[in-house]
Amino acid sequence: SPFNLETCARPNILALEPYRCARDDYKDDGTKVLLDANENAYGPPISPSAAASLNSSDDGPSIDLLGLHRYPDPHQEPLKQLLCDLRTTHAHTTKLLTPANLFVGVGSDEAIDALLRCFCIPGRDRILVCPPTYGMYSVSAQANDVGLLKIPLLPAPDFAIDVPAILAALSAPDATTIKIIYLCSPGNPTGSLLAKSDVAQILAHPTWNGLVVVDEAYVDYAPDEASLAEWVTEHPNLVVMQTLSKAFGLAGIRLGAAFTSPPIARLLNALKAPYNISSPTSALASYALSAEGLARMRESRAKLVSQRERVLREMPSIAGVGRLRGGTDSNFLLFEMLNGKGEPDNGVALRVYERLAENRGVVVRFRGKEHGCNGCLRITVGTEDEVTKFLEALERTLAEVR
Ligand code: PMP
Repeated sequence: SPFNLETCARPNILALEPYRCARDDYKDDGTKVLLDANENAYGPPISPSAAASLNSSDDGPSIDLLGLHRYPDPHQEPLKQLLCDLRTTHAHTTKLLTPANLFVGVGSDEAIDALLRCFCIPGRDRILVCPPTYGMYSVSAQANDVGLLKIPLLPAPDFAIDVPAILAALSAPDATTIKIIYLCSPGNPTGSLLAKSDVAQILAHPTWNGLVVVDEAYVDYAPDEASLAEWVTEHPNLVVMQTLSKAFGLAGIRLGAAFTSPPIARLLNALKAPYNISSPTSALASYALSAEGLARMRESRAKLVSQRERVLREMPSIAGVGRLRGGTDSNFLLFEMLNGKGEPDNGVALRVYERLAENRGVVVRFRGKEHGCNGCLRITVGTEDEVTKFLEALERTLAEVR
């Protein structure tokens, strides 16, 4: 691989001395008197009954509210091991994922931003994105004064990445300023898995010195073998991001992960705020990744899948809804909205979006021309009751706007 961390990463980040606490020298084993971190040993102002109920719960995770006056573990090795276990299938490689392959952050949003800060020189470098795609890649790029090169997904048949156009951009004279490619699989808002062979072709580029990031926020809804996480043991410049915000139903705790080669993981960990993962987040995430938590996640996923099938079944019978665009590998679906002439119509989609929210109290996501789609709504699949309300509201709203 032409990837060279020493020339790809920012020199100031390569030289960064990470923050160290006294507990990096003297591990907290529960027996020491800890007077090193300016914590408040008298504890926080929390209600004793809340503390008692959370601590004694034997049906689910218990959170040590009484330990909340302590800073959390900056390294999160046990949690990282659980994340590795989840992705270890032995199908792709004989090498094992270990905690050294991981960065954990405040959602995958932290990983998106941390990668930019590690690799892109503000005012000079660029990232490559493939719209329609998740909005935070470009927001983080802008926030870091990093440029944006857009190579749209191919609309037919299923929003594949435009491999020849990407390979050409990576061979152009100015390719040295392209530091990161953000891909999304399954895509948001497309719902389609990328072809593994397409990602492999980009990774095989003979000269480009940069990072390929595959955002797998929705991968738990896709078939088991869909994740590329294990590929990071064989590709030094690959990053695979995952999150507990979607299938694990824990968007509120903010826990995201980036699997990558150990040298890149070291840089991301050197850069992060030392205590980015809170103790409650760590406790709830560890339970979600335990055998019991995984069984519960699979139960809720099965309910979601049956509602997704129901939406797929019932949408075509609603006049004014066009075809499904993209795939069904996620917990949302992307539909075209049609005008009176039966054509996909950006204006109709926007009006439906606004009226659904304002007149019916149902909020979906408008994804129009300006987002690289045309006349589309992205609908998150909810509970049975929510889906019923949505389908009724959509039928009435379409009748009104056309
Ligand atoms: N990536 C994609 C593709 C997403 O759709 C989202 C959430 N909308 C995220 C990342 C952010 O996830 P997190 O909650 O882990 O920050």
